[in-house]
Amino acid sequence: MAAALHAPLSDVLGAKTAKEFAALRVNTVGDLLRHIPRRYLSGTELTDLATITEGEHVAVFARVARINRVDAHDGGRGRPRPGRLEVLLTDGSGHLAVTFFGRSHLLRWWEDQLNNGVGGLFVGKVGSFRDQPQMTHPEFVMLDAAGRIVGKSEEKARMATLAQSGLVGMYPATARLPTWTVAECARLALASLPVTDDPWPEWLRERAGVLGLADAFAAVHAPLDLAQAEGGAHRLRFDEAFATQLTMAYRRNDASAHAATPRVRLADGILDAFDAQLPFRLTDGQVAVGSTIFEELARHRPMQRLLQGEVGSGKTVVALRAMLAVVDAGGQAALLAPTEVLAAQHYQTIRRLLGDLGGGRMLGAPDVATDVVLLTGSMSAAARRETLLRAASGEAGIVIGTHALLSDRVQFADLGLIVIDEQHRFGVEQRAALVDKAAARPHVLVLTATPIPRSVAMTIFGDLSVSTLAEVPAGRQPIGTVVVDAALRPAWVERAWQRVVEEVSSGRQVFIVCPRIGGQGSADGLGVVELAEQLRSGPLAGVRLGVLHGQLPTEVKDQVMGDFAAGDLDVLVATTVIEVGVDVPNATMMVVWDADRFGISQLHQLRGRIGRGEHPGVCLLITAVPPGESARDRLDAVAATTDGFQLAELDLEQRREGDVLGASQSGTRSSLRLLRVLEHADLIAEARELAEESVRRDPACQTPGFADAVREISMLAPGEWDS
Ligand code: ADP
Ligand code: MG
Repeated sequence: MAAALHAPLSDVLGAKTAKEFAALRVNTVGDLLRHIPRRYLSGTELTDLATITEGEHVAVFARVARINRVDAHDGGRGRPRPGRLEVLLTDGSGHLAVTFFGRSHLLRWWEDQLNNGVGGLFVGKVGSFRDQPQMTHPEFVMLDAAGRIVGKSEEKARMATLAQSGLVGMYPATARLPTWTVAECARLALASLPVTDDPWPEWLRERAGVLGLADAFAAVHAPLDLAQAEGGAHRLRFDEAFATQLTMAYRRNDASAHAATPRVRLADGILDAFDAQLPFRLTDGQVAVGSTIFEELARHRPMQRLLQGEVGSGKTVVALRAMLAVVDAGGQAALLAPTEVLAAQHYQTIRRLLGDLGGGRMLGAPDVATDVVLLTGSMSAAARRETLLRAASGEAGIVIGTHALLSDRVQFADLGLIVIDEQHRFGVEQRAALVDKAAARPHVLVLTATPIPRSVAMTIFGDLSVSTLAEVPAGRQPIGTVVVDAALRPAWVERAWQRVVEEVSSGRQVFIVCPRIGGQGSADGLGVVELAEQLRSGPLAGVRLGVLHGQLPTEVKDQVMGDFAAGDLDVLVATTVIEVGVDVPNATMMVVWDADRFGISQLHQLRGRIGRGEHPGVCLLITAVPPGESARDRLDAVAATTDGFQLAELDLEQRREGDVLGASQSGTRSSLRLLRVLEHADLIAEARELAEESVRRDPACQTPGFADAVREISMLAPGEWDS
């Protein structure tokens, strides 16, 4: 069956139609068969006209309540007017106006048709007229009391086919491909499919309790009843869940088949020295996750672990302890950050946390000390050569940088652990590529600050085991968040800037975040640059204010960030370059300009930059979006709670599936068409178990259907994830 399913659509449809399907991301016969109706209308039930909305392509079963024919006006004295037929449909619960335009003889012909039968099936796009929904020139077919088609004119053949099956599928459609054309094409594809094998072995289908593939296709495209249609859809959703989980399961298996050098935790090394000098007590969660990690590092198989935890939950310390354990065991660790600013921040944080322990084996340094180096793309050639040398010689126990670190030119003496911070920005494929670089696999620890529901974690991070830091270290200060309505209460914006000045006067620091660098094209003309200018010469005159955004040269960025961290700047006006990882405990206030431009998780992350020290934080979200709009609701949600898990779920509900899974899954070759990771969490969990069983039964991936599925998912090519 595989060959036929992979055949281009033009093999079964006309080239022109095939081309139009591309707009629906349907390119092969298989794509078309997996393009299934969103819902079904049954010929015996009336559609609820009360809920009809403008812009929808719909099919409604209704009867004609009233017809009013207005014949053409020749314009003798007034303006000429085309004739029209005004029809009012009803289904008992609501009404829908339908209009036909044309010459008198046509209007009369339509009128006759409509007067036949007891009701009809009307298909078309809902528009509006004088604010009321209406359909213009729907296609229709009238039915008699027994539900049979009245009349049998040639052009109604396709409508008849539709109406005669028990259920009419409503497909995701376009203007050029109305639902009945999609239905017809799906049937053509169905009929042309050769009888061949199901890709999944029988034991698997039985355990999953799913229909065979051919039966499933028939069930979704030509169902006799809703239960059958749902059975078909279930099988097709299972395919997506299973293919993803199978790929992850083979990856886990593959990773565990690779040898890793065990890094056994040693006593009295740099890790113990570090623990002894820590200025705080580790939380129970940090200790527990630490032991799990040490145990896994000591194994002959590479660790593949995801550490998730709220912003500020102390992931960095956990990761650093893992790196130190590897250093004690004679290896090196690499820490990868998504941006250079963050890499530099990590470098500073880690140097600060380590103190003398991170200064290299210089005279007078503790003899367990190691060297921590930062490698960035913008270093001078000489500095870069020096850093590369220290990585290659093994002198540097900890090497920090962006993923450019994994380019071929960076050599490590003995890379034992890769820590990847804020993994959300990397795709699954990218992570695989990165680990493949080393001959003996390094252990991998991924850190993410975005709390992820389990089903999503299994789908995106399915090749990793998950640890969670649930508690935030004691002493973390509360953050109060207020939405400032700049349109309704402009005076509050003035008050916000005053508040900034007060905060600065009491010795603390403030972030002001703006969504854009330059204001050109924005509603108020304000980007970071313009806003900073206005504040400098206005409400924040006299305050030491710095500007930070991604287009500044690295030296400038480092300088500004460094000055702010050192307390030499009071206010930092910045884009989201400060979103993750930036740690300035003295920063107690954040003002977000045009806050409605940000998503929930992003705002939550941003807000996590304050309240990290001894003082409580305040976050002001400035917006001109009025209450009642969804962008404003998001802000109110963020203001209402600081529970990251709650906000993450809210966020996921509001976003498109592709956004949830990252760019890799939202491209034209997405492997997820029907599966909804939140809604179908149970199915995903079941698929994961069956995938594990499958790998146990067929560790070499010799089942052709398995190999195809894995290949197809892995083929989501690099480039697609690079957003
Ligand atoms: P995350 O990376 O999870 O956002 P960090 O590791 O950056 O969190 O920790 C945030 C802040 O809390 C840092 O200043 C860090 O030094 C501090 N911290 C970490 N663990 C603890 C702890 N157990 N007790 C007190 N402070 C801690
Ligand atoms: Mg961090």
